[in-house]
Amino acid sequence: MSSFQDTDTICWEVRNSGIHNNGLFATSDILQGTRIIEYLGERIPKEISRARALEWDKQARKEGAGLVYIFEINDEWDLDGNVDYNPAKYSNHHCEPNCEAINYDEHIWLVAACDIKKGNELTFDYGYAIDSFLDHPCRCGAPSCPGYIVRKDQRWRVRRLANKKKKV
Ligand SMILES: [Zn+2]
Repeated sequence: MSSFQDTDTICWEVRNSGIHNNGLFATSDILQGTRIIEYLGERIPKEISRARALEWDKQARKEGAGLVYIFEINDEWDLDGNVDYNPAKYSNHHCEPNCEAINYDEHIWLVAACDIKKGNELTFDYGYAIDSFLDHPCRCGAPSCPGYIVRKDQRWRVRRLANKKKKV
């Protein structure tokens, strides 16, 4: 990826979202390919991020909350975005998102996956694995939404499970 368009001005804001608590919204029209906001956080070695992810997973099972904000930077380091100085963490999951999280020279950016209109919520696919999907219900409202936050290539499995439940 080398043809990013950078914004000189801030083109997002955090406000209340219909999807989940707070969300990130476009404050101007944004062209496809624009790097919108860097996903900031603490750089941590893999062992620590694995331990944190497990801890959050436990919390999520107990409280139905505790989303994981970890991104991979490279083979040795991850990024934990659950910090106050990372407004990008407010971007919600959507099953038909308008942004992608892209690792660009070991920096994670939220990049516009299509042209985005001013006022639209900025979302990306959290890409959770199938094994914990029941902990992460999705209310994004997309026609293709399986009702849970699961990465795209595994969503058919959720639909199949849901169909089975209906038949019983
Ligand atoms: Zn959804």
